[in-house]
Amino acid sequence: MKQEIKGKLTIIAGPMFSGKTEELIRLATRLKIGNKKIIVFKPQIDSRYDKNKICSHSGSMIECVLIKDPIDILTFLESSKEIEYIAIDEIQFLNNVIIDVVSFLIGKGYNVIASGLDMNFRGEPFGPMPELLCMAENVFKLTAVCNECGKDAAYTQRIVFDKPASYDDPIILVGAKEHYEARCREHHVVPGKKYSKKLSLKEGSIL
Ligand SMILES: [Zn+2]
Repeated sequence: MKQEIKGKLTIIAGPMFSGKTEELIRLATRLKIGNKKIIVFKPQIDSRYDKNKICSHSGSMIECVLIKDPIDILTFLESSKEIEYIAIDEIQFLNNVIIDVVSFLIGKGYNVIASGLDMNFRGEPFGPMPELLCMAENVFKLTAVCNECGKDAAYTQRIVFDKPASYDDPIILVGAKEHYEARCREHHVVPGKKYSKKLSLKEGSIL
């Protein structure tokens, strides 16, 4: 029986400003230099920069195909049979169908490299990232630099009107002056965030 060739999944995860996209571009560029057939996809949400190019904060860029739905990847591949590697930037913005799509592609022998925010501004898992991180053969977890203390930052801090955004603040705040920063665990602040249980070391038990 012919042995089925399987690909591998590599995930680059971390907060904003940790260089995830730059790392994705670096890996994709290396593969191109090695004459590997690679295609780069990106969800059509972020229009910060050039439409058909992925740009990192440091300015490096690569051409990409914008997709609205994970299924668009399969549609694209139907007409591009020679592709061996698939890179996906900002994968956290795709819906959970991407988990099945990635699993299917790996089973078909494609190698998939994806970058994404592992946590939202609340410090909670972002979209399909938990499943993708579990499935991956290789995980690169990058850190940024904390805006407050300069230590390694694994969290993304949302700031609205110069104050930390509350847990229940809507994701879209029309007209709000807001921005994001990288923060370490100590300086990541989410007013209104509660644990599912009231924890106390003093009591020595979970209440
Ligand atoms: Zn800090």
